[in-house]
Amino acid sequence: MNNSNINIPYPSNEEVLDYAKGSPERKSVLNTYKELYKKKITVFLKINGENLKGDSTKKMTPPHDHKHILGEYHIANKTQIKTAISSALKARDKWSKMHWTRRASIFLKAADLLAGPYRNRIVAATMIAQSKTVHQAEIDAACEFIDFLRFNAFYMQEIYQNQPESSPGMWNQLHYRPLEGFIYSISPFNFTAISGNLSASAALMGNVVVWKPSDHQIFSAQVVMEVFEAAGLPNGVINMVMGDPEMITDTVLASKDFAGVHYTGSTFVFQNIWKKIGSNISNYKTYPKIVGETGGKDFIIAHSSANINEVATAIVRGAFEYQGQKCSAASRVYLPKSKTEKILNEVKRQLNTIKIGSPDDLGNFVTAVIHEEAFDRIVNAIDKINADSEADIFCGGSYDKSIGYFISPTVVTTSNPNYFSMEKELFGPLVTVFSYDDKKWHETLKLVDQTSIYALTGAVFCEDRYIIDEAITALENCAGNFYLNDKPTGAVVGQQPFGGARASGTNDKAGSVFNLLRWISPRMIKENFVQVTDYKYPFLK
Ligand code: NAD
Repeated sequence: MNNSNINIPYPSNEEVLDYAKGSPERKSVLNTYKELYKKKITVFLKINGENLKGDSTKKMTPPHDHKHILGEYHIANKTQIKTAISSALKARDKWSKMHWTRRASIFLKAADLLAGPYRNRIVAATMIAQSKTVHQAEIDAACEFIDFLRFNAFYMQEIYQNQPESSPGMWNQLHYRPLEGFIYSISPFNFTAISGNLSASAALMGNVVVWKPSDHQIFSAQVVMEVFEAAGLPNGVINMVMGDPEMITDTVLASKDFAGVHYTGSTFVFQNIWKKIGSNISNYKTYPKIVGETGGKDFIIAHSSANINEVATAIVRGAFEYQGQKCSAASRVYLPKSKTEKILNEVKRQLNTIKIGSPDDLGNFVTAVIHEEAFDRIVNAIDKINADSEADIFCGGSYDKSIGYFISPTVVTTSNPNYFSMEKELFGPLVTVFSYDDKKWHETLKLVDQTSIYALTGAVFCEDRYIIDEAITALENCAGNFYLNDKPTGAVVGQQPFGGARASGTNDKAGSVFNLLRWISPRMIKENFVQVTDYKYPFLK
């Protein structure tokens, strides 16, 4: 028995590889990409550590080459979902009792595997499955995922160290129990790191998990499972199931042992899950924890003192990296009339240099949107804008789905600050600009605050310190991640804990202590050292 007080040192962020021409990482990631592209991969359900076939299968195709078949994945039936739940609960017996340092070492090992032997595989799989450029795949599937795993282990230690005071004659202890039951994690397509972290963060704290990845991320999700297994995660701790999201969710939520949901995805789906939990509430053994990070309508507002090139670059990177499919992507922009033309011309100049195409051509900055439904949604918006008198396509607006789901970065200008594309999350490479009268800065701040139901990210560009101060206060509630003179995307674990409020989520800040606290149920233990033997207090004597 090792009784030493083990210390997890403060981690540093994983260094981002640059994949520059001639670099070894560029060569090896492209080789892995080619190998994975050729293979036909079958993704099984992973229940209690076993690869199981479902009732049927579905094909996996890359968004940038949708006629190419990457392989297939299995679709679970209801009985298999129930088996996933019972396997998780069976694993809970041992897992919840395992010393926290041993749990930490599994996820720290997973981080090192991702940083080393699995790096190419997870980056290439993410490029293929989600159509990410090598840089976007690197900062997501490698760096952010590694950071989640390392920082969470450190934060877990910080939580456990937190103990109450004890008066003389007693010892007070807080024990940080995992939740009584299992956690259901539901992940979106757009970040491999999120897909892994939703399950890993809960499991790290001693919980067992049923994980439903997005149908559009399965190809990289199975690499996530491979890494967890290679790191020694015991069977049944995280069970991965694919299939009809309604059926899976209804089956999970019907279990009395359902103890919490860790969700990231669109707002409407989350609200429905919450409603279903509400209507089942009297059936559960314990009140389930509900953690959801959801949609956004993220803004950039530039003051008349802002630097033209800085604002333009923030729009190009903030709105169009990963085709605008980041929950944090800028999709509504407010520019002062005095500088609108110059900023937009610079945006156009930069966009004219952008290449669009498959992620295996590293010269491409923009690749495909995730699936046909997303393509159609954005194309419908472009067609509507073309037909409307209140808005114009300033640049972009072309699309083609013959090979992949390609849409050119599209900048829209509108005279109506409440135009639908200023309010609705479209989740694609389309940003709408409203040009405001420089004299109406205060009113425009109000407009930014009141235009959308969301409150995820936002950015202010301004050189005047008093104005910055005003903006920080006026926009207090409209972004959980607020940027000054920077684009509103690219949060880094350990530096900018991420999450928003209003319709953007429960703001539990993924990759932070706040999130991990949701996956524990503290138990207070008071031990009395000096027992009393007479009920009478002195005042009674
Ligand atoms: P989505 O809502 O389509 O899917 C998310 C997950 O929910 C998937 O696993 C999906 O299969 C599942 N799902 C779909 N319908 C369901 C149902 N009826 N019942 C239960 N589960 C269901 O979202 P997406 O397209 O994968 O991801 C994009 C969305 O995610 C955007 O709205 C984006 O803003 C949001 N997002 C938010 C954050 C954040 O941190 N706030 C991060 C990433 C993505």
